[in-house]
Parts: sequence; C-alpha cells; structure tokens
Amino acid sequence: MPAEVVVVGGGIAGCTVAYELARRGLRVVLVERDSIAEAASGRNMGLLLNQTEPEVVRIMRRSLDVYRELLPGPVGFDLRETKQLLFAADEAQLASVRSRSAEIAAIGVEVEEVGEMDLPFEMRCVGGFIVHNAWALEPADATRAFAEAARQAGAELRVGVRAGHVQVASGRVHGVVTDAGPLACDAVVLAAGPWITQLWPSLEVSAGRGWLLRLRKLDLDLPWVIEEMAWPDQDELGRATRAPTLAEVAAGYDRSVAGAFVICQLPAGDALLGTSLSPSLRDAYEGLEMPSQVARRAVEIAPGLAGVGVAAAWFGLRPMTPDGMPIVGRLEVEGLYAHGGHGSIGMMAAPATARWLAAAMSGEAAPELAGLRPGRFQE
Ligand SMILES: Cc1cc2nc3c(=O)[nH]c(=O)nc-3n(C[C@H](O)[C@H](O)[C@H](O)COP(=O)(O)OP(=O)(O)OC[C@H]3O[C@@H](n4cnc5c(N)ncnc54)[C@H](O)[C@@H]3O)c2cc1C
Repeated sequence: MPAEVVVVGGGIAGCTVAYELARRGLRVVLVERDSIAEAASGRNMGLLLNQTEPEVVRIMRRSLDVYRELLPGPVGFDLRETKQLLFAADEAQLASVRSRSAEIAAIGVEVEEVGEMDLPFEMRCVGGFIVHNAWALEPADATRAFAEAARQAGAELRVGVRAGHVQVASGRVHGVVTDAGPLACDAVVLAAGPWITQLWPSLEVSAGRGWLLRLRKLDLDLPWVIEEMAWPDQDELGRATRAPTLAEVAAGYDRSVAGAFVICQLPAGDALLGTSLSPSLRDAYEGLEMPSQVARRAVEIAPGLAGVGVAAAWFGLRPMTPDGMPIVGRLEVEGLYAHGGHGSIGMMAAPATARWLAAAMSGEAAPELAGLRPGRFQE
C-alpha cells in the first residue's frame, strides 16, 4: 500500500513529525540517508533553557509535555530538571545579564541572584542569576525514542535511503524519488535540517556550525548548567547566520559570530562544554580553530578546568532561518510541508511544532503555527 506521507530526515524534526502523523493513523514512511540522529540532533547539548522570548518558552513547555509522554516508552532517555546559572564574566556583560534575568522572571520563571560564595569553582564572574525550571536531555536517545515511537505507531523507517527530489505535477506532490526507487505519496514533509534547500531551494534556511567538547569526569558536582551571558537572542542569531553574499565568501568566510562558555555535567560525571556559532557553507571543510577557541574561553573563565581531559570534540550544523525561529507549515505546492529551520532550539521546539503541524495536516486548527509560516520572509 503506498505511503500517505513521506518524511525526509531522521533528526529530531523528522522523527517527531513521523511519530505525530503515525499516531493519527496515517501511513508514514521516513527516509534518512545516514542513520537516526546522525547530524545535529545527535550532536547538541540537549538543553531546554528559558529564553526571553515568551513564544519560545511556550513552545519549550509544550515540548516538555511531549517528551514526558515518551519517557515510559521502549527507548528510554535521560531527561532531568536542573537550574541554569546565567553569569557575567565582566562588567560589560553585567547589564545584559540583569535585563535578561528580569525578562525571564517577567515570563513567570523563578530567578534568584547568586553570590560569589555559591560558585562551584573559581570563575571569572562579576554577577549572575540562577534561573529555575531548566531541563537537560540526552539528544540522540531522545531522537531515537521518537523514531521508535513512530515505528510502533505504524511508521516505516528507511535508514540509509537518500531522497533525491520531490515529484510535483499540476501544482501538487505525487511522490519522492529516492536512491531505493520512487515512493508515491499524497504528502511530503521536508525535515532535512540544513540540507532542506537541496530538496526545495527557495526555502530560507542556512547552516550555523557549532562545536562542542566532551570533557572527562569532573572531580566535582556542578549544581547547575553554567552559561556565560554572551549567547544572543533568536532573531540576532538568525541575522548573523544568514546565507552569505559572494563578496563575503571572497573576503574569507570562517568567522565566529557568537560564542559563549556553557558547561553541562552529564549523569556519569563527565561534561559537555560549548559553544560556538559560525555561518557555514554546509559541506565545506571545517577547521579546528573553533574548538581551540571554545577551550581558550573556558580556561580564561574557569582556570581550574585547565587540567580536565578532553575526550572528544565535534561540530553540528544548526538549520538557521533569518529570524532564528522554525519554518513549519505548507509550502507553495499542495501536499508539501516544511518542518525545519529549528536553529539553536531544535530539541526545545521540535516535539511541540511537530504536534501542531500534524494537527494542521489533518485539517485541524493550529493557531500556534501562524508565526512560523514558511512564507513569512517573503511577505
Ligand atoms: C553545538 C550545538 C549545540 C546545540 N545545542 C542545543 C541545545 O542545547 N538545545 C536545543 O534545543 N538545540 C540545540 N542545538 C540545535 C539542534 O541540534 C538543532 O536545532 C536540531 O538538531 C535540528 O534538527 P533537524 O532534525 O532539523 O536537523 P538534523 O539533526 O540535521 O537532521 C536532518 C537529517 O536529515 C537527513 N537528510 C538530509 N538530507 C537528506 C536527504 N536528501 N534524504 C534523506 N535524509 C536526508 C540528514 O542526514 C539528517 O540526519 C544545538 C546545535 C548545535 C550544533
């Protein structure tokens, strides 16, 4: 029996939407060219942190509800509540840390000022706030949990199969051509991360490269996720990683547009250290300058960490949009949908946006998606 919906991409965006559509009884086939969570969805920090934008906080809370639904399922994943220390490393960051904390408090999140005595190690910190109700999860396992839940709801997962192009005739979708042959279907959801533009070039998605270092076991327990007040809001991130002009590439195109010292201890005692953001030419050569930069910043801020072993370092590509918010909804062709561009908040946002997209595709009202229309940048 032919599929009703083909989902392209086995990251958090594709697996969540495959799950939501399958649990509504649709015949779903998901194609992933590599393996589930192979790209950014298995390479990120897994943090669900409160932001200043109320919209992002609302989306994050809805996603948390969905994650909790999946927790008892056959693929367990680590999801733990924590707190975030948002701190200023110097006087220049202090005003921003105060205003961001006040904005987060105004959304209704508990925030308290921290004193120097409370810090877990010697740190360059001139002030900071503890933000409650933060969450951390293991991103690859969480993505696989959605893949498995989709399979159990009847979806077929074809891993190692690349989608070549979407077949369109008379203004509507007819199928997807893949390496394993054509797949006829009534609808296609593009969830291919920063590669979404290979399948639908008019979409405004670019790639924002980010590095993480995995540190060996720390000889202390970090009570919070610690984040330097240097990571921009979503709209600024979006502007900074827009696709470059030819002149910008000609002038040299491997610069960092954002970076912050962020450290999150994992349940076994080791830790993830981040992070950076540079516009990326997606599949071009990626050098080793950025992990050095992340490490330098960490040693400047917390000299006591200098002797901790580095187990691994890797980068992932964030699928960025001009305003830093996802694109979710129907495209100009009937039967064609986008679930992508989740930028730096894919783990925070995709479970919620997938639920709303599945509702919209089933003909239900999904007012939450109004601000995430894929066509909003042309309006
Ligand atoms: C360093 C770093 C730290 C981050 N930290 C956080 C965080 O703490 N919290 C948070 O919420 N977010 C975080 N993010 C962002 C998050 O990782 C992304 O928003 C999210 O993973 C994007 O998911 P995706 O499914 O859209 O894309 P991807 O994970 O890139 O998945 C897309 C998939 O599509 C597949 N694909 C592509 N083309 C095709 C094709 N033609 N046919 C078949 N398959 C195809 C790819 O192989 C890939 O598996 C971070 C990102 C980075 C890089």
